[in-house]
Amino acid sequence: MQGCVHVYTGNGKGKTTAAVGLAVRAAGQGLRVAFVQFLKTGASGEVPALEKLGVTVVSPPAPEKFLWQMDAAEKMACAAGQQAILARAAALMPTTDLLVLDEVICTLEAGLVPRAQLDALLDSRPAALELVLTGRGADAALLARADYATEMRCLAHSFEAGRPACKGIEY
Ligand code: ATP
Ligand code: MG
Repeated sequence: MQGCVHVYTGNGKGKTTAAVGLAVRAAGQGLRVAFVQFLKTGASGEVPALEKLGVTVVSPPAPEKFLWQMDAAEKMACAAGQQAILARAAALMPTTDLLVLDEVICTLEAGLVPRAQLDALLDSRPAALELVLTGRGADAALLARADYATEMRCLAHSFEAGRPACKGIEY
């Protein structure tokens, strides 16, 4: 069957956790699943959980600083690292049924990964691959390539009430 492109975007909570949910479902059906993280700031609970299910997780060390704290040279090194992760993801495609690129949309928005590199991955993907892209700020061109596109719209988030990020909920 022809694989689909799935996009989870928007400002509300639920993009990464929806992708994790899809990965769990696919793994439960015996599909080969790979979950690739971009721009993570620390270990998140889904990493050991997905590994227990036999999912291939690519979870590189997080950048040591936030982007806005980096000078030009540090930002270039960060960009090279994110582009290398995308290259690793592309190399996984031939042996994967469901590939998640978590937060990859944010790397486009931040100017760390050239749009052409993601377009090349989309253009060269195996026909049957299910490809999941998450991150805030998907633009119209990316949405136009999606077969499923879902916007998480924030109606409330506990962060706004001052609750700090909660282990097992936010990460
Ligand atoms: P989750 O990983 O919980 O599914 P997400 O992938 O939709 O969230 P991101 O944009 O990747 O959200 O943000 C990552 C972190 O920011 C998560 O800890 C998430 O709970 C939190 N977050 C998401 N939406 C908001 C918001 N509107 N205000 C504050 N924090 C948010
Ligand atoms: Mg996320």
